[in-house]
Amino acid sequence: MLADKIQEVFNEPGCGVNQAKTTKERKKGCSKPLKPGAAAGGCAYDGAMIALQPIADVAHLVHGPIACLGNSWDNRGTRSSGSQLYRTGFTTDLSELDIVHGGEKKLYKAIKEIVQQHNPPAVFVYQTCVPAMIGDDIEAVCKYAAKKLGVPVIPVNAPGFVGSKNLGNKLAGETLLDHVIGTREPEVSTPNDVCIIGEYNLAGELWLAKPLMDEIGIRIQSCISGDGRYNEIAAAHRARVTMVVCSQALINVGRKMEERWGIPYFEGSFYGVTDMSDTLRTMATMLVQRGADPAMLNRAEAVIAREEAAVSKRLERYKPRFTGKRVLLFTGGVKSWSMVTALEEAGLTIVGSSTKKSTKEDKEKLKKRKGEEFHMWDDLKPKEMYRMLRDSEADIMLSGGRSQFISLKAKVPWLDVNQERHHAYAGYDGIVNLCEEIDKTLSNPIWRQVRLPAPWE
Ligand code: SF4
Repeated sequence: MLADKIQEVFNEPGCGVNQAKTTKERKKGCSKPLKPGAAAGGCAYDGAMIALQPIADVAHLVHGPIACLGNSWDNRGTRSSGSQLYRTGFTTDLSELDIVHGGEKKLYKAIKEIVQQHNPPAVFVYQTCVPAMIGDDIEAVCKYAAKKLGVPVIPVNAPGFVGSKNLGNKLAGETLLDHVIGTREPEVSTPNDVCIIGEYNLAGELWLAKPLMDEIGIRIQSCISGDGRYNEIAAAHRARVTMVVCSQALINVGRKMEERWGIPYFEGSFYGVTDMSDTLRTMATMLVQRGADPAMLNRAEAVIAREEAAVSKRLERYKPRFTGKRVLLFTGGVKSWSMVTALEEAGLTIVGSSTKKSTKEDKEKLKKRKGEEFHMWDDLKPKEMYRMLRDSEADIMLSGGRSQFISLKAKVPWLDVNQERHHAYAGYDGIVNLCEEIDKTLSNPIWRQVRLPAPWE
C-alpha cells in the first residue's frame, strides 16, 4: 500500500519536474540513491514531520526509537497563536525488547495516555524505520485507538527508509487528503475563504501577511500547516481558493483539492514586494471570480499601493549600504526566484541561486526575471561553493543551516533563510526585516577579525 502511495506521488501531474519526464522516467521516481558516506538531508519521516507538526493543537506522536524524534521540546521555529501542544515531543521510545515483541501495544498505550492527559482534537502517529521493519501495523492500531478513544488518530506512514525529506512532505500531504481534509464541515463559511498550503509560519511569517488579508477581507479558512488547527484543516474542502506556497512539497494537495472539490489553486509567494502584491491581487481576483464582493479588488489595490509606497521608503536607507554587495543565494523551491526579486529590490546583486528543490515553473520564473545567463545550480557542490566564497565572488551567503559551515570556513558572512531562521521575512514588513538582518550580518565587525592572520602567522 505504501509502495502504491509512493508511486502515486511520483506520478503527480501537477509537479513541474514530472511534466518534463517521460512516463518511464516518471515511474522511476525522484529518489536518487545516495553515495555511501556522503552527508544527506532529512529522511521521509523527517519531511512528513516538518510538514505536519505546525498543526498546533494536535499531539504528534513518533512511533520509534527516541533518536528519530530528536528534540523533546519545540520544533523548527514554527509559531502558534494558541495551543502549544505541537511543541511537546511525544514518542513511544522503542527499545530492544519492543523490537523483539513488537511495538503495537506500546503504541496504543501511548495514544491512550496522550488522549487522557491532553485531550487533543486528534493524534498524528508517525511511522519510523524500526517499527516499519518489524512489521508494526500503525494503520490498524490508529483505527482501533480512534474507535476505542473517540478521537481521530491519524497514521502518517512515511518511515525514513522510503526516501527523501521531500517525498516525506508529499506523503504528509497524502495523509491529510486520505484522513483529514473533508472529514468535517466548518462552523462558518464565506465566499472570501482561502486555504494556504505549504506555509509553515516560521518565526511567525504568516502573521505578517494576515493583517493585510484581513483588511482586504480575505479570510484564511485554514493554513496547511502553519498555525493550523485540526478542525480547520478537516474543513479545508470548503475554501473557495487555494494558494500553494511551496509548490514542490505539497502540490499534490492543491491539485487533488481542485480535482475532488473544484477549488482552483494558484502558486504564489509571500517573499518580496512584487510577489507579495501579486499574491494579494491574485487571491482577490480569484475570490471575486468565485462569488466574493467585487469591492474586494479595490480594497486589495488600495492596500498594495499603500504598502508598496511605505516599504519603498523604508528600503531607501539600505540601498547605499548595499551598493556593490553580492549575494550567493543557496536555498530552493519558491524562494529561489521570489527571494531574488526581494533582494534586488533592496539594491543587492545576486551572483547566483540554487534551484535544487525548485519546480520547472520556479526555474522559468527565475529565467524570466534574470535572463538565460544567470547562474542557476541544480546541485552546487560544497567544494565549488567554498571556492566561490573563498575567491570573494560573493560578500554574503544566504542559505539553510546545513551549508553555514562552508561559508564560515571561507570567512564569509552567512544568514539563515531556511527552516531554522528566527526572523520573519514574509510580506512587506518581512523584506525590511531581511534587509536589516543582511545589513547587520554584513557589517558585523567579527568578519574583520576572523580574516586577520593568526598571531603565529
Ligand atoms: S532514517 Fe529512519 S531511523 Fe533515521 S531518523 Fe529517519 S525514521 Fe528514524
